[in-house]
Amino acid sequence: MKIILMGPPGAGKGTQAEVLVQKLSIPHISTGDMFRAAIKNQTALGVKAKEYMDAGGLVPDEVTIGIVEERLSQPDCLAGFLLDGFPRTVTQADALAKILHQLGLKLDGVVNIEVDQEKLIARLTGRRVCRQCGATYHVLFNPPTQEGVCDKCGGELYQRSDDSEATARNRLAVYNQQTEPLIAYYRTEGLLVEINGDQPIEQVLDDILASLRNSL
Ligand SMILES: [Zn+2]
Repeated sequence: MKIILMGPPGAGKGTQAEVLVQKLSIPHISTGDMFRAAIKNQTALGVKAKEYMDAGGLVPDEVTIGIVEERLSQPDCLAGFLLDGFPRTVTQADALAKILHQLGLKLDGVVNIEVDQEKLIARLTGRRVCRQCGATYHVLFNPPTQEGVCDKCGGELYQRSDDSEATARNRLAVYNQQTEPLIAYYRTEGLLVEINGDQPIEQVLDDILASLRNSL
């Protein structure tokens, strides 16, 4: 199975990626992880990527595409892979199509995990941290027994500025702006698989697997 996994911040993409690669026995190709590994192993591309990151800039497309091409050319990708974090733009999607064509590979589907914006906001802003001991809670997924009070030490719980509603709305706006053209691109290609991410983790996984099998 050769798939791309997409989803906005807060949609649970990371969790689904981990379970999917295990279930399907395919490599998890995360550009973020690959950059870290390439930099650590000081490959030519890693050295280049690090230069851009150290200068505070974004890694240019050609570098990102080079890293993905290098990885997809490895023999373990012949039977399948899950791409995570790439492509992010239509330019990258075009480059990916070219790489796959050269390798004689074909995508089976582009899975897009969808969750209503307001629900994403609630997920992204739900974290609370104890002022005294640093314990973390989530008002939806891991609430304290008494609202605003730490179970462990009785300290006051607060919301970090990273978890504010303004930050969450901004992250989602940036994500939507960037990925809308990409979603349209894969819809046109007939590869888009839309999954309702507002369900228990197991159900989301089952839906993804069922949809992918149907599209084969
Ligand atoms: Zn505490």
